[in-house]
Amino acid sequence: MTNDPTSSYRLRLPGPTAVPERVRQAMAGPIVSHRGPEFKEVMTDTAELMQPILGTSNQVLLFGSSGTGVMEASLANVLGEGDKALVLSNGQFGERFLSIAENLGLAADAIEAAWGQTVSPDAVAYRLEGSDYRAVVAVHNESSTGAVADLAALGAVVGATPAVLVVDSVSGLGGIEMRQDDWGVDVVVSASQKALMCPPGLGLASVSDKAWKVIEDNGKRGRFYWDFLRARDAAAKGQTAFTTPVSMVVALREALRMIHEEGLPEVLARHRRVATGLRAGGAALGLPLFTKAPMISNTVTVFATPDGLDGTEVVRHLYEHYGTVIGGARNQLKGKVLRIGTMGGCVETDIREDLLYLERTLEDLGWPVERGAGVGAAEEALLQA
Ligand SMILES: *Cc1c(COP(=O)(O)O)cnc(C)c1O
Repeated sequence: MTNDPTSSYRLRLPGPTAVPERVRQAMAGPIVSHRGPEFKEVMTDTAELMQPILGTSNQVLLFGSSGTGVMEASLANVLGEGDKALVLSNGQFGERFLSIAENLGLAADAIEAAWGQTVSPDAVAYRLEGSDYRAVVAVHNESSTGAVADLAALGAVVGATPAVLVVDSVSGLGGIEMRQDDWGVDVVVSASQKALMCPPGLGLASVSDKAWKVIEDNGKRGRFYWDFLRARDAAAKGQTAFTTPVSMVVALREALRMIHEEGLPEVLARHRRVATGLRAGGAALGLPLFTKAPMISNTVTVFATPDGLDGTEVVRHLYEHYGTVIGGARNQLKGKVLRIGTMGGCVETDIREDLLYLERTLEDLGWPVERGAGVGAAEEALLQA
């Protein structure tokens, strides 16, 4: 439980997520020079602790940024004006990648899948045949729908071509498995405020050798702050190119220490367990899962609201009456989904409380529920998970 137990405010969004006390305390230390020896140790520790979570031996690049910043950076480094990218779009963040590509003047094509589904790796293979795409761009964990991309399969498809695979794992990394090197993911970008249990403000990128060659040969580099080559030079010295958000890196190191103390496999198993429990509990309350993809997220649970129940009202009521902040949608799914984070420090008691307040909310709104059914079903699922 990472929310303050003395507060009635429960942050249960799929990001930003509640930050553990230990991480918040770590951030409160004095600021040191971002070019001095004291901080160099923090940077090198952080990069080392990050690598197993990414499943990589790549240098890890850090930026003061939200997730979208490093999404943009990944495209701006690998591609230049007029270069062709193939964007897999099955939700809000795939659409965001498309908008970024458009704004950077790239020639982006989309392969779309229905929201809640994923683009099939076979469709990607078909589109890549005889094409000159420089990059295939995908979202690992589509937070708007709860669909998880099969990165192992995509990596195998893209790896057989000159294109590089660029992946947003902002809401996946640290909560669901990522094996960047084994799977052949060329660029992974992520951010601090989701499963990594930190406040918003830090973005990260991890770049494969194949992608570094593409970046080095990219004659159309139109970037400055986001220059991965400059970031790589700085990272080799335990620094960032520009002023480091020092407290944020201290926070990330502490959060990563917590992940490794618990054990990465145990952390991933906990995410699986709480997500399984929440899904079962929601189903018992009459909230079916929105997600239809073969792989379903363990970091964000997306329920479809049944006809006649306005999701926006459920979100508002949970907040106003039960201090519980969950996500709805501000896109084409507005009013139709409830999105709850099961990532970061989320534990079983969090989802029990979620289900209790969800049940009360549904009852308050005049929706028929069987009292205790949600928590009961969750307990059954947790015992088996
Ligand atoms: C949260 C999130 C982002 C980043 O959003 P920011 O608000 O820019 O931090 C990007 N992609 C996915 C899949 C996300 O869940």
